Amino acid sequence: MEIKAIRGFNDILPDEIGKWQFVEETAREIFEGFGFSEIRIPVIERTELFSRGIGEATDIVEKEMYTFTDRSGHSLTLRPEATASIVRAYLEHQIYTFDPVAKLYFIGPMFRYERPQKGRYRQFYQIDAEVFGVENPMVDAEVVLMLIHFLKKVGLENLELQINSLGCRNCRPRYREELKKFLEKKSFQLCEDCQRRLQTNPLRIFDCKVETCQEAIADAPKVMDFICDECQKHFDKVKEYLKMGGLDFILNPRMVRGLDYYTRTAFEVVSYQLGSQNAVTGGGRYDNLFKDIGGLDVPGIGFAIGMERLISLLPKDKEFTQYPHLFIAALGEENSKKAYELINQLHLHGIRAELDYEGKSLKSQMRRANKLRAQYVLILGEEELRRGKAVLRNMESKSQEEIPMRDLLNTLKTRILHD
Ligand SMILES: [Zn+2]
Ligand SMILES: [Zn+2]
Repeated sequence: MEIKAIRGFNDILPDEIGKWQFVEETAREIFEGFGFSEIRIPVIERTELFSRGIGEATDIVEKEMYTFTDRSGHSLTLRPEATASIVRAYLEHQIYTFDPVAKLYFIGPMFRYERPQKGRYRQFYQIDAEVFGVENPMVDAEVVLMLIHFLKKVGLENLELQINSLGCRNCRPRYREELKKFLEKKSFQLCEDCQRRLQTNPLRIFDCKVETCQEAIADAPKVMDFICDECQKHFDKVKEYLKMGGLDFILNPRMVRGLDYYTRTAFEVVSYQLGSQNAVTGGGRYDNLFKDIGGLDVPGIGFAIGMERLISLLPKDKEFTQYPHLFIAALGEENSKKAYELINQLHLHGIRAELDYEGKSLKSQMRRANKLRAQYVLILGEEELRRGKAVLRNMESKSQEEIPMRDLLNTLKTRILHD
């Protein structure tokens, strides 16, 4: 029987990879420019890291985690998100002893047991950035500024920044009670999941897609009306710094983010490209996560970008695939050896070159060069060889020239790399 990939697990093939590499390279370049360093975390962690960090009463922990028992009887989980692991690493390696401020980014796959759909996989990729150790609202704005700068740099247009404040551990409980009281009167309208959420985590009802739940919550009290003075001051500063950074934003009081650990600033970026509305990314501040995981009191803020979604929004007219600079079409045994010698030199000089391994006719080699979309073809023919020449054909302009065999490498380098 033919073995196939598991449902929800996706191959990224060579004709797609250029986009992924472009997005990853752009993220590295921009984030490092903002003073961030890359961190790599394990794919698997102890289950309690996520149940404690993300919160028991969330969809992720309740029904989406890939959890299994290993041979020693430990409960392990494939990471469903990056923040909890990065926090764990920061605490475990005491990164704060070097500098209390840590700016970290991460790129890699996450795993959630969700219903697979087009563009949504059980193994999916995220770009993640976190700042630990800064309470100053300046850093909230700076992180958002970096995010928007990155999204524009990869070519996204028509972006809308939405922000909200979710309050803190002092003021949110009061809001939660108010919301609960409000929704209890409408509980007959709520779906089965939300009936349960009403008791465990009523804020999650904002994220429910069921229409009657959306109606029930339409004129619910807003968290912004319940935040304490400290939270209000923080939020005002964030808005001020965003404006100073030249960013427009809208307030979205219904954005509460799915995870328990968010406090104060929450943000989302929505793309209005091609007439449709897509939440591209979101994030926020989480000043309690550290205490929940490891006991230290460290503020944090960050965001995660879903790469599949981002890549689907990249400009359609941009070329991401790297095609060969040169195809060497060699005819005959002796020329084939010359081609082999030459191509090794070219590769060492950073020229993407390809040749024919099968001794095919010139016509069929030219066909292959065309299919590979090579920029140039170098023809090493019997006749030309006798005259110490080779033919270089520009595949786009269809023009060709004879170039001397001696000094072939330098001539090609000049033509190709300075083109
Ligand atoms: Zn507060
Ligand atoms: Zn619902």
